[in-house]
Amino acid sequence: MNFSDERLICLRFEDKQGYFAKSAAPPIYETAPFFFDTYEDYAEAANHEKEHYVYSRGTNPTVRIAEQMIAALEGGEDCKCFASGMAAVSAALMCSLSAGDHLILVGHIYETSVSLAKYLTKFDINYTIVHSTSTEAVANAIQPKTRAILMESPTSFTFDVVNIQEVASLSKAKGIRTIIDNSWATPLFQKPLEWGVDIVVHSASKYLGGHNDLIAGAVIASKEIIKRMYAEEYELIGGSLAPFEAWLLIRGLRTLPLRMEAHQRNALQVARFLSDHPAISKVNHPGLPSHPQHELACRQLKGFAGLFSFELKDSGYEDICRVINKLRLIRIGVSWGAMESQIISPNYGFNKQSLKKQHMPESLIRLAVGHEPAGLLIEDLATALS
Ligand SMILES: *Cc1c(COP(=O)(O)O)cnc(C)c1O
Repeated sequence: MNFSDERLICLRFEDKQGYFAKSAAPPIYETAPFFFDTYEDYAEAANHEKEHYVYSRGTNPTVRIAEQMIAALEGGEDCKCFASGMAAVSAALMCSLSAGDHLILVGHIYETSVSLAKYLTKFDINYTIVHSTSTEAVANAIQPKTRAILMESPTSFTFDVVNIQEVASLSKAKGIRTIIDNSWATPLFQKPLEWGVDIVVHSASKYLGGHNDLIAGAVIASKEIIKRMYAEEYELIGGSLAPFEAWLLIRGLRTLPLRMEAHQRNALQVARFLSDHPAISKVNHPGLPSHPQHELACRQLKGFAGLFSFELKDSGYEDICRVINKLRLIRIGVSWGAMESQIISPNYGFNKQSLKKQHMPESLIRLAVGHEPAGLLIEDLATALS
């Protein structure tokens, strides 16, 4: 990506009231309630809780800074931050669906989001998983009661790409709401609202936070959607982000362009090394020309993040363990999006049947490339694969 286009390195937090004096970093408003001088002031604020600071389960100044920064990055009208990515996904789905409605999940959706869809069946919300990211397959899965489509692009294990614009316009024509999990691309590399997607969600625990030190989520959408979500899913279910976590998130956001550029550069180098390695049968990285949807990925994305996967030639669980256990620099860990490189496989040895059901290759390993020198990461992988 061309970072000079973005002007985001100097992304600033808003301080229209002059609240924060001249501090370079914003203050942490670690408070539950806010006090008022008169009861009339309180009554007025309580009547418009979304805009006023009344109680921190609602609106908090530190959290509000993170929300305004993320809304600006995504090019959205408004944002609400949540205590986790899953709280954000839950709110986005629950505000879009009612009993009797049908939901479509496109491709390899994040496993916990799939479990959430299963959970929602107890409220008579049904779902279909489309085991393909083609627009045609999505169109064929639409039923009369379909009210929402949840997608990720690229998907976070197999890195399949969805034609976001096509799915959004197809859905709009049928009055179906589209929701995308944009955690992989980040708003720097992909702004789905510009293509007509209704709601963007993030696990801010990944790249937006970027330091492996916080759990947070975000929902970005129109003012109208956020206003309804605030009054219902946000305030009632109560998954609000704490001020200190919001402060960490703000700190992360300030270096997002620098970090994403480093992830992109490092991961492409490591992916190219793995592509040429005789023990590897396939590398799933949308930035490589060998990726079946490379052209679409180049059209849709302004850059490539650091997370991708690869498949070991003729291998199963034992081989995966042998390779992963030999790594010294790359750590074994489930998350991604921070400076530490980390690795994981969806194959746990005992879940063969479930992998088959998900159309997930048994030999798949997922690598999150961090900010260590690419040469050292390649050396670590070369030793483990030898
Ligand atoms: C981690 C993750 C989530 C969930 O986010 P949490 O912050 O862990 O709740 C959602 N979607 C994707 C793609 C993820 O990787």
